[in-house]
Amino acid sequence: MLRIESPQEQVFRREVGTWYEAELPRDLRDLTFRPEPAAALAWYKRLSQRGWIAPHWPKGFGGMGASPVEQVILLEEAARIGAPELPTQGLNQIGPILQRFGTPEQRERHLPPILVGDVIWCQGYSEPGAGSDLAGLSTRGRIEGDEIVVTGHKIWTTWGHHADWVYALVRTDPERPRRQGITFLLIDLRSAGITRRPIRTLADECEFCEIFLDEVRVPRANVVGAENQGWGIVTALLDEERIQLGSPSHALRALERVRRIARVLGSGFGETARLKVVQAEMEVAALTAAFLQTLAQAEQGLPTDPSSLKILSTETTQAVLEIAQDLCGSAAALKSSEAVGGTVIDFSELFLQSRRLSIYGGTNEIQRGLISDRVLELPRGGRP
Ligand SMILES: Cc1cc2nc3c(=O)[nH]c(=O)nc-3n(C[C@H](O)[C@H](O)[C@H](O)COP(=O)(O)OP(=O)(O)OC[C@H]3O[C@@H](n4cnc5c(N)ncnc54)[C@H](O)[C@@H]3O)c2cc1C
Repeated sequence: MLRIESPQEQVFRREVGTWYEAELPRDLRDLTFRPEPAAALAWYKRLSQRGWIAPHWPKGFGGMGASPVEQVILLEEAARIGAPELPTQGLNQIGPILQRFGTPEQRERHLPPILVGDVIWCQGYSEPGAGSDLAGLSTRGRIEGDEIVVTGHKIWTTWGHHADWVYALVRTDPERPRRQGITFLLIDLRSAGITRRPIRTLADECEFCEIFLDEVRVPRANVVGAENQGWGIVTALLDEERIQLGSPSHALRALERVRRIARVLGSGFGETARLKVVQAEMEVAALTAAFLQTLAQAEQGLPTDPSSLKILSTETTQAVLEIAQDLCGSAAALKSSEAVGGTVIDFSELFLQSRRLSIYGGTNEIQRGLISDRVLELPRGGRP
């Protein structure tokens, strides 16, 4: 850790580290994949009882109202102990959106279950023909009395097959220009007319699924914001998502792998390898500093650039995992657990997982396009 901390921050770090050490079950440490729902939610609930599940939520909504440094300390200590990745769509995306745009009824109904870990949310944006071009979505919502009747097909829905609710984009007015006829809708996944099909990935796991909606009846009270005006909410949510995707949590985990390999290799560790570890340490320190700065800017109501942060975070993680692979030599080439010294580590899984970081939440090419438009105000050229 290359940052200087105040005495209070040091006390908080010790408190977090000691508690994690005592509370986090051994079988949930150092996992490559997110654990299955039962195990993940047990740990989620434990963190919630401790009051640390929502560091970035304001206290008024039951969060911790933590300072940027406290948020980073929680991430760093979680990485150090090898804490697992948890389902975050509720905490990082729909929760903050309902805090900003939800009705009092929507907040009262949905925020407490997210905090205590009783409900899992997923994101229903992408469709087979609408990924980067999100406004090209074709899932339709027909308004009938107090209901919207939804038919369509969502894809790449993370944890969709485990989730209880999906927040989805639905085209409710096909006559209007593309971005003006979209509604942001909360859909109970137990509703009639919903089928889910898990998708197996390159890394040989099922973290996401397809969702088919066939004449699903959703109360109009579940619209967030106004009908046909969902695009503004999408943009706010994607910015929120990208700040959290810009957190150093994956990079810190990757760095722990690098440190672990260094420990395992011990005296067999040459000068080149030593420099690679230093390089990894510095890249993650730079990312953490950028994340802290973005959080501090957001806290002061200043504009932020979540696209740059998302690129920096995902590319740093990928670079650090490439260093981990280099250090392991041929052991990293096979898709199986390999012995490195006396320790068994599966490097290829983590490496394969890291490929996806630059795709979800809007690909890094799309983020570069956004920086070109929004930050540098360059001409759009031939881009749509
Ligand atoms: C692990 C994972 C989890 C995901 N979870 C979810 C989820 O929970 N919910 C959800 O809704 N979606 C989810 N997604 C989907 C993700 O948001 C989309 O994959 C992403 O937006 C890209 O869309 P696409 O796959 O349709 O690719 P395409 O849009 O077809 O893009 C293909 C390639 O072309 C490039 N490209 C496209 N347009 C441009 C352009 N204008 N300029 C430059 N390059 C361009 C892209 O960057 C990409 O490299 C997830 C994806 C992954 C990998």
